Amino acid sequence: METVNGEREYPFCEIDPEECKGCHLCVSSCPAEVLEVSDNLNSKGFHYAEYKGSGCIGCGFCFYMCPEPGAITVYLKDYEPGKAV
Ligand code: SF4
Ligand code: SF4
Repeated sequence: METVNGEREYPFCEIDPEECKGCHLCVSSCPAEVLEVSDNLNSKGFHYAEYKGSGCIGCGFCFYMCPEPGAITVYLKDYEPGKAV
């Protein structure tokens, strides 16, 4: 993960490999082209999607395109659980 002064660079996207079913809708929907298909397989045999590590603009397209609840989380700089941003 890319860091700035030792801290994570916001916004960023996180994908849980085990929740991913390898449809790659997120990869094709990302306007910043910062998602890619991993060479690795998860335990179900899917080539999961992964974040390249920088360049996310926090648009959330990947989150809304993903059919698997919980597979993708997009972290925005000022996000706090339960607080609207
Ligand atoms: S859209 Fe969701 S299930 Fe499909 S590849 Fe991306 S993270 Fe995996
Ligand atoms: S939030 Fe937008 S820019 Fe960031 S990884 Fe998802 S689709 Fe790409």
